[in-house]
Amino acid sequence: MLCEEKGRLLDAYVTAADHHAQAVQSRSIIAAKDIRTAFRKALAHSEQARQDAEEARLALHLHSKTHGC
Ligand SMILES: [Zn+2]
Repeated sequence: MLCEEKGRLLDAYVTAADHHAQAVQSRSIIAAKDIRTAFRKALAHSEQARQDAEEARLALHLHSKTHGC
């Protein structure tokens, strides 16, 4: 015999469990996006540092050439 209250509680549990699963999935997607954002920032930073180093190397080279030192 089906208990009406048990059926209601089961429905509520299924709904809550499904909601939890969706929340965990959303969190995982956000975490993955954050990793990509952090990676892009790290990549952009390393590229900027590479350009800065190249400009500094060129400035040193030009100075040595014109200054003869
Ligand atoms: Zn010099």
